[in-house]
This record gives sequence, structure tokens and C-alpha cells, in this order.
Amino acid sequence: MKIAILPGDGIGPEIVAQAVKVLKALGSDGLKLELEEAPFGGAGCDAHGDPLPEPTLMLARAADAVLCGAVGGPKYDALPRAQRPEQGILRIRRELGLFANLRPALMFPELVGASSLKPEIVSGLDVMIVRELTGDIYFGEPRGRRQNARNEREGYDTMLYSEPEIRRIAEVGFAAAMKRGKRLTSVDKENVLETSRFWREVVTEVGRRYPQVALAHMYVDNAAMQLVRAPKQFDVIVTGNMFGDILSDEASMLTGSIGMLPSASLDERGKGLYEPAHGSAPDIAGKNAANPLATILSAAMMLRYTFNQDVAAARVEKAVKRVLAEGWRTADIHEPGARKVGTAEMGDAVVAALRS
Ligand code: NAD
Repeated sequence: MKIAILPGDGIGPEIVAQAVKVLKALGSDGLKLELEEAPFGGAGCDAHGDPLPEPTLMLARAADAVLCGAVGGPKYDALPRAQRPEQGILRIRRELGLFANLRPALMFPELVGASSLKPEIVSGLDVMIVRELTGDIYFGEPRGRRQNARNEREGYDTMLYSEPEIRRIAEVGFAAAMKRGKRLTSVDKENVLETSRFWREVVTEVGRRYPQVALAHMYVDNAAMQLVRAPKQFDVIVTGNMFGDILSDEASMLTGSIGMLPSASLDERGKGLYEPAHGSAPDIAGKNAANPLATILSAAMMLRYTFNQDVAAARVEKAVKRVLAEGWRTADIHEPGARKVGTAEMGDAVVAALRS
């Protein structure tokens, strides 16, 4: 199992180092992992004048999976757009054909108090949002500015999904549901949009091949409401790029803590890029204060979704649950009475829990 390690900038190297510790601890338990590191984002600009240097892209292409920290920081904010670290993320997603974004929102019982919603609404929450990442109104053509017949200026975009694009993301949604609670909610705006009517038709067709999965359809406005009203009704949600962009951020906030949220972006063969949902947190970089759990949980997703190592993935997730239950907390999730630890100590605690 070849993994490209791209630590990136800010807290990236610190948090990725913890996930690597965890992967190596598993490696010594019999998994054969080959890890190789390369500069990415601002670090890529520093080393090669490019946020996605050619050797980094080649490494990512040759690997089975990519583990990223985060990129960006004030040092790079003045660079021309094409050289900004964030462009490295967009380019690597495009170059690797990563069309499916998986963002789980999982409520750890110990962190229920961190949510802005009432404990009874969020305790036990475990939702997975599968968002299409390379199509929809964000990429549809034509788009632009023009002068209309009344000589007024206007802006326009095109919402568009082809059948293969819908089929492949629906497949990811059904496959994720099969690995979880076997319930899939497809979110669209079928009452208004032709694209959504077609989306619903194709998702329903794909669903015939997954009789074990209970498929439901929901309008996006209702889904946004249901996510804060009764989020536990959902198992897996599959949706297009724009609706998924908004709903995945909404769902992630239900858990209250940005340092706990992993993500995966997959291609058609299950190769994936795994990264925490947060950014490079320049305000706490180099201070051994960042929460590494989102990155460690991203590594667990890698084991499950790229390598089909469900047992190893579950072991990592269980180890994270255990350190939380034992009261270990980084500053972002700290509460009175808990044991406040730094990034490295949190990584060590997960490794110790994994071994015990
Ligand atoms: P951010 O997610 O980096 O930070 C927001 C807040 O959350 C900060 O207070 C930060 O300290 C805190 N935080 C984030 N991750 C944390 C963790 N693991 N543990 C503890 N606290 C954590 O968002 P931002 O401040 O808007 O962006 C900072 C930089 O990151 C920018 O350059 C931005 O472009 C970049 N960014 C990169 C990615 C990515 O690499 N995918 C995503 C978002 C933002």
C-alpha cells in the first residue's frame, strides 16, 4: 500500500506526523505500508516555485492514496493566484480525477457539549455526506457576463450533470451506505430544476442494483432544515457539487469541533486523497497545539475506502474514541477537568490506545 504523504503548511506537518505515527503503528501490526513524503502547497512554492510541483504530482499519481495536511498561510497570500497554495489542492483533485468527496459528521459522546445544538439532537449523530466534486453549476459551460436585450449587465452559470457523472457519484453513495446503515438520501431540487429531475431519475435507476439500501429523495431546502432539526434521521446523503458544498459545511458544524473532521476525495477506482476538513491554522502553527484527530481519522478513512481494511480502520476509530473517553483533549476541545495535551502527545495517546 503506497501512500504519498503531503504535509503542506502551517499545522499540516505537525498533524500529519501524528497520522503517520498511527499508520506506522498499524504497519508494525502486519499491514505493509510504504510512505513517501513530498512538498505541497506553500511548501511546494518554497521548494520548487509551484504549489503542486511535478515530482509531488508524480508521487501522488504513483501512490494508491494521498494523505494531506493543509495548505496556505499569510506568507503566501500575496502570491499571484496560480501560485497560491490553495490552487495546489484544486489542481491535484483535477489531476487525479477525484470526483467524490466524503465528509462524515460523527458525534463523539464526550464532545456533545461542543455542539451548538442540544445534546439530545446530536448525541449519537453519525452522518456521511457524499458530494459530487467535479461537475454541476461550478463547472458547467457556458458561464460568464453579458449585456441582455434591455442593455442591462447580467451574470450567468450553467447547472449541468451528465448521466455518467450522476451514475458514478450515486454508486459511491450506495457503496458507502452498504458499508454503513444501508440508508441513502439523495438530495436535489427536483420541484424546480431540470438537472435535478434527471439526477433523481438516474439515482433511482442505480438504486435498483442495491435492493438492500433504502433510498429516499429530499429537496435541498428541506435537507438543510432537517440537518438541524433531526440530523440523526440520516445515514448517507448523496448530492451534487453546490448542494453538497453547503450541506457538508452545515453538517460538519453539528459536531462543534473543526479539529475532529476528516474527509476523503475518491476517484473511480477508489484511489483517494485524504485530508482534515480544516485549514492550516497559521495562528497555532508550530506551537504543538493543533488537534491531530481529524487527520488521524482521515487516515482511518483511507484504510476503509481505498484499502478496504475495515478492521484496521475500525481499530483506529476505536483508539480515537478511547483517548477521548480517557479525557485527553487538545486546546480546541478542552473543557474543565479534562487532560490538556499537545499535538504530539495526542498522537502518542492514540498509538498507545491502539496497542492496548
Ligand atoms: P482554518 O481551518 O485554518 O482555521 C480556522 C480556525 O480553526 C482557527 O482559529 C484555527 O486555529 C482553528 N483550527 C483549525 N484546525 C484546527 C486544528 N486541527 N486544531 C485546533 N484548531 C484548529 O481556516 P482559516 O483560518 O480560514 O484558513 C487558514 C489558512 O488555511 C488559509 O491560508 C486558508 O486558505 C487555508 N485553508 C486550507 C484548506 C486546505 O488545505 N484544504 C482548507 C481551508 C483553508
